[in-house]
Amino acid sequence: EQSRLVSGEKRAEDFEQSIRPGALSEFVGQASARANLQVFIDAAKARKEALDHVLFVGPPGLGKTTLAQIVSRELGVNFRATSGPVIAKAGDLAALLTNLEERDVLFIDEIHRMSPAVEEILYPAMEDYQLDLIIGEGPAARSVRIDLAKFTLVGATTRLGLLTTPLRDRFGIPIRLEFYTTEELERIVRRGARIFGIGIADDGATEIAKRSRGTPRIAGRLLRRVRDFAIVDGAETITAEIADRALIRLDVDPIGLDALDLRYLNTIALSFNGGPVGIETIAAAIAEPRDAIEDIVEPYLIQKGFVQRTPRGRLLTPHAFRHLGFAVPKAAEE
Ligand code: ADP
Repeated sequence: EQSRLVSGEKRAEDFEQSIRPGALSEFVGQASARANLQVFIDAAKARKEALDHVLFVGPPGLGKTTLAQIVSRELGVNFRATSGPVIAKAGDLAALLTNLEERDVLFIDEIHRMSPAVEEILYPAMEDYQLDLIIGEGPAARSVRIDLAKFTLVGATTRLGLLTTPLRDRFGIPIRLEFYTTEELERIVRRGARIFGIGIADDGATEIAKRSRGTPRIAGRLLRRVRDFAIVDGAETITAEIADRALIRLDVDPIGLDALDLRYLNTIALSFNGGPVGIETIAAAIAEPRDAIEDIVEPYLIQKGFVQRTPRGRLLTPHAFRHLGFAVPKAAEE
């Protein structure tokens, strides 16, 4: 659902470059990812070698692209970016790879969406910095081997399980990104407000942070919308009251759940008695693709303790029933 205000997925209106942190030290949260990256980056620089290939795993909007850019900046190398679905043919990837300079970063977003033929040529490129290409067709076809610069591939994906095993195994540095805490999101919101040149009270930042579904991209988006409300009101500072009023108007609930989250939860609660119910059944019932549910709806609800994944399907917790304002059924009691 593209029109979702609180989806972590990218939209054209996001102007993300403007508030994107440029250095590891400016990047808020993800402490263990940052600490690990710093060590690997320092080591690669000291050895004057390419950084090992890095895989960022996590829901949309948590900072995978941002970290990839930061990695290239900290290494002092070029940053080239593409995405799985955009690389149509093996030749497209070959063109990208042959244009890389020593130690450059090639970022492939949604790397799980590459076609098998494209993925195939990535293996020797990652492993031996070599490209095996077939030139010509039929009996005249021959294979040529091209040496590549020693580069770093940075891949991003929403779920590790979407990658084939051979691809997954070729990343020396797999890094999982976590949802952000309210406190971390407050810092991101305050930083964004400074960049936008609008005042924000501490309680205003808290109000936006609490409703950002643990996701910096959503925090940035909500901040932008709340700022519009503040400007129209003639207010110079975003307070909790202004933020609250704006976010209610935008249908974002007090903990950041939106209509799609609520539809998902209500369907399990009301049509399936709280579950367990299979993901395919839920997808059919709310008429949303299963992938979208698994990528952008469930991770946050699971982290919040609203839903559990069990072998027999999704199960609503008592916490979820209470948030929805329903009595907790006997079967769901702890
Ligand atoms: P992803 O690639 O995981 O979908 P992005 O890297 O594009 O996410 O980040 C989405 C938005 O959130 C960008 O505007 C980025 O500046 C902002 N952002 C992400 N992580 C952070 C962070 N730790 N601190 C500040 N802003 C962040």
